Amino acid sequence: MSNTRTRFAPSPTGFMHIGNLRTAIFEYLVAKHNNGKFILRIEDTDQVRKVEGATKFIYDTLKLCDIKIDEGPENPGDVGPYVQSDRKDIYKEYALKLVELGEAYYCFCTEDRLDTLRKMYDEKKQAFKYDRNCLNLSKEEIENNLKNNVPYVIRQKMPTSGISSFNDVVYGEIKVSNDILEDQILLKSDGFPTYNFANVIDDHLMGITHVIRGNEYLSQTPKYNLLYKAFGWEAPTYIHVPMVLGEDGNKLSKRNGDASFMDLYNDGYLPEAIVNYLVLLGWSPKDNKEIFTMEELIKDFDPARISKSPSIYDVKKLGWVNSHYIKKLSDEELFNITFPHLKRYYDVSNKDNTWIMTLINLYKDELRYGKEIVELAKMFFEEEYCLDEECIEFMKQEGTDEVISSFKKEIELIGDWSIDNITQAINNVKEKTGFKGKMLYMPIRIKTTGFMHGPELAKTIYLFGYEKIINRLGK
Ligand code: GLU
Repeated sequence: MSNTRTRFAPSPTGFMHIGNLRTAIFEYLVAKHNNGKFILRIEDTDQVRKVEGATKFIYDTLKLCDIKIDEGPENPGDVGPYVQSDRKDIYKEYALKLVELGEAYYCFCTEDRLDTLRKMYDEKKQAFKYDRNCLNLSKEEIENNLKNNVPYVIRQKMPTSGISSFNDVVYGEIKVSNDILEDQILLKSDGFPTYNFANVIDDHLMGITHVIRGNEYLSQTPKYNLLYKAFGWEAPTYIHVPMVLGEDGNKLSKRNGDASFMDLYNDGYLPEAIVNYLVLLGWSPKDNKEIFTMEELIKDFDPARISKSPSIYDVKKLGWVNSHYIKKLSDEELFNITFPHLKRYYDVSNKDNTWIMTLINLYKDELRYGKEIVELAKMFFEEEYCLDEECIEFMKQEGTDEVISSFKKEIELIGDWSIDNITQAINNVKEKTGFKGKMLYMPIRIKTTGFMHGPELAKTIYLFGYEKIINRLGK
């Protein structure tokens, strides 16, 4: 059994944008590729941003995507708890250990003092850095303050010279000069750890071997490594991934109305397709293959092939991938992703199952997502049509009237309204009038549907129903 352990560590903010989900998938693939474990850790130390029900939402998303959690809040292993707010005592214990080791210190500075300090830096147009006012407090001062319940934070004592560096799988060697590192807060005055502290403690205690996360943490990681060093722990392998940007080049966000996984799912994108698409977003397989099952992804995934440049979320490409998966759906599955949308937008109360399935199947090949059926099938739910210029011009041609009146006669003769009989009727017109190809199909299509182009003609006519077709042909 391999000892590879990865973790997905979302903050329960109620929204999982596709960048977060992509990280989870990458984590899962790295674990499974190495026969390792995938761990879910809920990072809820920012109590202000925490949203009720968000954890369930994370579970639902992972489940739909077929990402199986080996250890997490609901199926804990030996290294729990798996929710950060339940680990407060652990963080405190380790923060105090660092104080003992001389690698961290109590800081009793008030907010007021820090604000004044910040303003001073602002005026000098310099980046704020804590001035180490509390670095050298005497033992007595500290004990006195603690006895008197003076609020405190614990800060990491950074080296002031030298260079810290590490190797990232995607970005290569990252170096920072230690003198720019601030004595960052590890434990806040409310007793909660900062992300910067908790991620190190948790990743170590949970035996995480590979940390995969957004590149916004890249520049912070040298600080984390100093913590590993202070404790004498081995740092994990880091795989920082580029951001996923919207088509406008901006960060994806809920505020910008960017799609979350659930939005996509509710619009009839298939989870397997979303997973497939997201993996290709920033990762390229050796052989330019584009459609992957989860098993194939697990087998082929190699984080060294993740690109450094930002990935652009491209809905068209997602639709293309999704349509591949739609083509393979059974009737029932296809019905499930389309019918709820049809029902919401149109009155389908007088349509039977055969009619609905014929309609949905008519668009199966071009459908990019379930909800698109509403737009594609619009003509079947409208009473009238209005011809565009091109259609009007086409119908001025000689022969179109003849085709229409011949077709009308054939339709009137049909006993049983079926696709076969309609196909036969079209063939009869061909024989009787001598028109074929475009000159046969286009007049019939324009007159019956109002459009020059569209899906299979006989099926389309069938779906409009005898009455509507006779009516339109008579006009
Ligand atoms: N809770 C952090 C986030 O949602 C996790 C970052 C990490 O994976 O370390 O951004």
